[in-house]
Amino acid sequence: MKDKSKALEALLQENRVFAPPQDFVAQANANDAAIYDQASADRLGFWARQAESIDFFEPYNEVLEWDAPFAKWFVNGKLNVAYNCIDRHLKTDRRNKAAIIWEGEPGDTVTLTYQDLYREVNKFANVMRKLGVKKGDRVTIYLPMIPELAIAMLACARIGAPHSIVFGGFSADSLRDRIDDAQSTLLITADGGWRRGSVVPLKGNADQAVEGDSPVKNVVVVERVGLAKSNANMVEGRDLLWHELMKESSHICEPESMDSEDMLFILYTSGTTGKPKGVVHTTGGYLVGTASTHRYIFDLKENDVYWCTADIGWITGHSYIIYGPLANGATTVMYEGGPDYPNKDRFWEIVEKYGVNIFYTAPTAIRAFMKWGTQWPESRDLSSLRLLGTVGEPINPEAWMWYHKFIGGERCPIVDTWWQTETGQIMISPLPGLTKTTPGTATVPFPGIEVDVVDEQGNSSDAGYLIVKSPWPAMLRTVYGDPERYKSTYWSRFDDYYFTGDGAKRDELGNIWVMGRVDDVLNVSGHRIGTMEVESALVDHQSVAEAAVIGKTHELKGQAVAAFVTLKDGFEGTDDLMAELKAHVAKKIGAIARPEDIFFSAELPKTRSGKIMRRLLRDIAEGRKLGDTTTLADPSVVQKLMSQNDE
Ligand code: ATP
Ligand code: MG
Repeated sequence: MKDKSKALEALLQENRVFAPPQDFVAQANANDAAIYDQASADRLGFWARQAESIDFFEPYNEVLEWDAPFAKWFVNGKLNVAYNCIDRHLKTDRRNKAAIIWEGEPGDTVTLTYQDLYREVNKFANVMRKLGVKKGDRVTIYLPMIPELAIAMLACARIGAPHSIVFGGFSADSLRDRIDDAQSTLLITADGGWRRGSVVPLKGNADQAVEGDSPVKNVVVVERVGLAKSNANMVEGRDLLWHELMKESSHICEPESMDSEDMLFILYTSGTTGKPKGVVHTTGGYLVGTASTHRYIFDLKENDVYWCTADIGWITGHSYIIYGPLANGATTVMYEGGPDYPNKDRFWEIVEKYGVNIFYTAPTAIRAFMKWGTQWPESRDLSSLRLLGTVGEPINPEAWMWYHKFIGGERCPIVDTWWQTETGQIMISPLPGLTKTTPGTATVPFPGIEVDVVDEQGNSSDAGYLIVKSPWPAMLRTVYGDPERYKSTYWSRFDDYYFTGDGAKRDELGNIWVMGRVDDVLNVSGHRIGTMEVESALVDHQSVAEAAVIGKTHELKGQAVAAFVTLKDGFEGTDDLMAELKAHVAKKIGAIARPEDIFFSAELPKTRSGKIMRRLLRDIAEGRKLGDTTTLADPSVVQKLMSQNDE
């Protein structure tokens, strides 16, 4: 990445700086910058101090054993994650505190105190033991965002059975692949789930996924929408109803004593870039990593109501709806449905209703809120909010400013958190009482995390590849059943460094700007341009709601910029607008980034976690046969785009 592209410079001209508000600083969990110095002077000492907030049944004897690229954290320690997330809080004032506040899409609600959660988790843990699930056996969970999902995962943790949660929006084929890869003997699902008022046929998909030759012996079914309504068919001898099993189950269940390095869960990556990998996370380091980042980055206080809008089927939900928050004794909100059901203010209604203090969402959601207009958040009381967060993609500066103004009332710090399924915990983020923020950058590494930006040769550089230089507690330990793939995917590109797959740039202040996946970076006449740059320039135009940019093979330039653009309500994709948008990008970034083609599209193909699938757009723009589309949220979007492109 020798060529300093104009694009990168354009982005770095972003110079709006937001210092943490004084009153926020005064009360912040971290407001002494010495935390960074202490952690870099003694990284392992820092993590050992973080581990003090976790209860071990038997102490560990070494913080880290590093046989690159295989790590062991808190070596020989014995603990149980469910015990840490539940039992230990019962001995404190938190016993009757809300652990989980759940809201269903139709408006039904459930609040589980820590004592309630203890009882339900133990009962289900006993159900699984009775069904023959033992420590080490894998359990696949395919559920909507209902309380039983949290209960099931914590029950797995309690008996030491690693869970593999498959997002409820995935197809039968995706589910089958993941069950087979993990060789799960138990599948937990629901008759159906609610999505924008209609029923998602989870049980039907589950039946297809375990049809014929399957390792699954039993299927436990939660009745969510009603067996009749969902047309769910119960198979005699294999399928069992959750509520019937729970009726007879005891609420006393000893937690299994787990080694720090015993597997806690497998989570398959979304597949934005190819065949899903079973990312393996273990017990001790994962809990230390998620609990400590959650406490500092979200500045958690005892009486806060915390809401992360992710689905638990993604790593964000694992680490920052369940494990991190509950280990910290927080009140965590879980919402089942879509943000626009029944109205486009559903999220703000929930914030108002529960007095949410900390709100964590994704740029794709923020862009949708922008598209819908400010009247929705403005009609609700959002004054309880104290801190905002984002994760999942680089956030376009205009979206950041909108979030700051219309959701945060210009008073809430924003933490832009960079991390991955593989990292398990947040790696790069502001500390809200310490770090000055600028729209579009996740700023600096968390204390005790060593990241760098390197060139092709692995030398530190101001633009290039984002890597991690040393192991961290919640890091993935391997790819399930495939240690070679673990080595070749993450540890071979730059010898002893972990390769993230993302491109990045560092500015003079030391802030790291993640530019998106390396595979997505364009090379136009030798200039490297981040897709995010051009997309942000497009979104900066008043007519554009969302944009996806790709490099299309070009005889002379190597690659030419092509853009897929979704317009805001009230704008039309005319030739004039197309010319105007091209000129706008050229003005903002430089002629080099001027799109050769612009395609207007009502929607963009996204993964189910809301990320744009640029790989497919490249296939479409170049008229190639499409790659794997099984992880798309809505496959019809691609069909529409293809027929458009043929015209
Ligand atoms: P797959 O690895 O299967 O292609 P995925 O990478 O989308 O799927 P995740 O682990 O959920 O799965 O996403 C991690 C990626 O998301 C990061 O590598 C990065 O590209 C992007 N990302 C996450 N948070 C941020 C952020 N705050 N800023 C910029 N990019 C981010
Ligand atoms: Mg990834």
